[in-house]
Amino acid sequence: MRCYVCNRKMVDKPTDSSQCKAHGEHIIHNGIRGKLISRAILCEECGGAYRKDDANFCKIFAPFVVALSDRLIPADHGKTDGNMLKGSLFKTPDVKEGDEGIEITAKNGEIIPVQPFDTIEGNKMDVYAGKKRIKDYLNVLTKELADNGDDIANYTIERHTDIHDQGYIAYYFSKGNDNFNEEFKKGMIKIATEYALHCGISRGLSMFY
Ligand SMILES: [Zn+2]
Repeated sequence: MRCYVCNRKMVDKPTDSSQCKAHGEHIIHNGIRGKLISRAILCEECGGAYRKDDANFCKIFAPFVVALSDRLIPADHGKTDGNMLKGSLFKTPDVKEGDEGIEITAKNGEIIPVQPFDTIEGNKMDVYAGKKRIKDYLNVLTKELADNGDDIANYTIERHTDIHDQGYIAYYFSKGNDNFNEEFKKGMIKIATEYALHCGISRGLSMFY
């Protein structure tokens, strides 16, 4: 069996440069929990060369993988949690055109605004910022109020370091990724080509990737 990319003979233990090391290639990416593996497509070296493209493709599906993480069988290897997601938080589920919402990041179920913000109603102040930034943000607010002849001590402050309960969260899929089309296409072509090879369709009839 020859590697689809370098055309060398795939063996378990290569002994010279005409041979390459066989490896189990995930036809649907491991990062999105693909389980169909073939040892007859790519060698270890050529498979490894797709690492960056594979990672970019899998990242596109992170909102689905994270949302379903406790319902999906684990990936065969690699870290599967800790994905940071980007999205927007909206006040209502029926988002009006032009409403960008509040930009957020989500990690391990914690929703943090990208830009800290605050609201003041009477003497009640609500401050929204991640754990790491809230102290600095309060210092900035203290100074701003003092500059205006006010005192932060006049306010009852409520700190919100996780804003998941402040509205409706929409995760980004293609938004914010300028290379979305390219990354998506590359991944889909790779799956299609590898699946065709797996099904016995000859190289001459399959697409190149
Ligand atoms: Zn190869």
